[in-house]
Amino acid sequence: MLGLMQDRPLLISQLITHAAINHSDREIVTVTVAEGVHRYDYAACERRSRQLAKALIGRGIRLGDRVATLAWNGYRHLEVWFGAAGMGAVAHTVNPRLFDDQITYIINHAEDRLVFADLTFVPLLERLADKLSSVEAFVILCDDAHLPETGLRGAQSYEAFLDEADDDFDWPEFDENTAAGLCYTSGTTGNPKGVLYSNRSSVLHAYGTALVDVLGMGERDTIMPVVPMFHANAWGIPHAAPLVGSKLVLPGADLDGPSLQSLIEREGVTLSAAVPTVWLGLLSYLEQAGKRVDSLKRVVIGGSAAPRSMIERFETKYDVRVKHAWGMTEMNPLGTVNTPKAKHSELPLEQRIDIKCKQGRPVFGVEMKITDDDGNELARDGKAFGHLKVRGPWVVKNYFKHEDEPLLDEGGWFDTGDVATIDPDGYMQITDRSKDVIKSGGEWISSIDLENAAMGHPKVAEAAVIGVPHPKWDERPLLIVVPVKGEAVSKAELLDYLKGQVAKWWLPDDVVFVDQLPHTATGKLMKTALREAYKDYKLPTARDPVS
Ligand code: AMP
Repeated sequence: MLGLMQDRPLLISQLITHAAINHSDREIVTVTVAEGVHRYDYAACERRSRQLAKALIGRGIRLGDRVATLAWNGYRHLEVWFGAAGMGAVAHTVNPRLFDDQITYIINHAEDRLVFADLTFVPLLERLADKLSSVEAFVILCDDAHLPETGLRGAQSYEAFLDEADDDFDWPEFDENTAAGLCYTSGTTGNPKGVLYSNRSSVLHAYGTALVDVLGMGERDTIMPVVPMFHANAWGIPHAAPLVGSKLVLPGADLDGPSLQSLIEREGVTLSAAVPTVWLGLLSYLEQAGKRVDSLKRVVIGGSAAPRSMIERFETKYDVRVKHAWGMTEMNPLGTVNTPKAKHSELPLEQRIDIKCKQGRPVFGVEMKITDDDGNELARDGKAFGHLKVRGPWVVKNYFKHEDEPLLDEGGWFDTGDVATIDPDGYMQITDRSKDVIKSGGEWISSIDLENAAMGHPKVAEAAVIGVPHPKWDERPLLIVVPVKGEAVSKAELLDYLKGQVAKWWLPDDVVFVDQLPHTATGKLMKTALREAYKDYKLPTARDPVS
């Protein structure tokens, strides 16, 4: 017997419609590329998104067609997101930090018909336009006054494009499983793969994201997603903000410490989300300039492991609660968020920070387990580590245009490629990416743990650990360090520092000092490039093996 409740589809257009009706005057603030600070409200955002939807239909865009964006977080980008998804098309957020060849591949693979791009990316598109055969026209996210001279096909300003239609348009209803968004994984090996989000997965994800123990978003919050919309949907924040009616601050292109600090203070930002490298920039600036971010109550740190020292600095120096989060493009993207439980509130600070170093508990909607190589489930004892597998309504089923290649196991589980532990309280901790874990004498060493320990040293700005070939142990860890500017630090000093913190056999066999480390387009350490660069590196222990 079926229930007798209404079977209304879950659609992205409902998120912005809800905000326009119930939070009509709540602000959306954008730092634009060339037009200064722009302010409007949810009512205006919804009206212009409808207008855009009608303009897209006027250009022949139909259900399931893809339109791409190469854009910073901003109000016009948001309108393309809501407008395209709301009329049944797919908003494909392209990461402009990818290499030219990857961008070309992605746009061609997605067969994007229109590209909406910020001014910043006009030169990039001019380089690639000849190879982007599916693209009928390029729309630049500015007004006519700021439209540059360009030979891009059909180039016009966003405002001119919008003016091709009026806002007399009703959001259509369609199946909630209709595709809404497309995002390609950064693809460490092979070509990038597309993850095709649905209206249903995005709305359910927005519900989950807003929950108190997840990001804890409410109407009274002012939320600034620094994480770009092209990095896994800005972790779903621009969907969840209209669901609860919070003020949105979209920071545009300048994501350095000074820009973020002044924006946080000026707009009264209470919650923000970014990858560790961005937070490092902000914290360094606050410390150097003696500035504060007093409105800020919570920060979400994800995309890479949050170093312990970063959690400590936020919590103790700036009285900001850290929400360490884990997710992936394949998941819309949130998987776990670290919020302390009631029983943790009385623990000493040190122990509370120990818990915060874990990536957190699964959001309802995400099932999670760890298994051995044969797929047997491992204990949730916080010690056993294995392949992290997930399933749920916002977890990928197949990659776009790879529908005939099975991705899940018989139980419907998706292997995340991460190695993790899960403790009896449900907290998951990433040990490593399975490709990055260092295999030494048949045992595993976590590169993440070593990096975090090294990052705790006051003279270390950034650290990476990779396994390099070793004749006796198979692989041994090499620590690669970027020292803090103007500071000299020695190998002996660092190894000494690590001694008390990790098992003796985990200690790196050597330390290399560099000026900078390579990062991926989403700000993660590019371990593949490091492994390639150091593949022939001769460890001192390889010449004189330790027993
Ligand atoms: P992406 O799809 O580009 O966001 O990458 C997802 C991957 O980033 C995950 O599978 C993890 O390997 C890594 N990742 C994301 N968040 C964290 C975190 N908090 N700690 C460690 N690794 C993370």
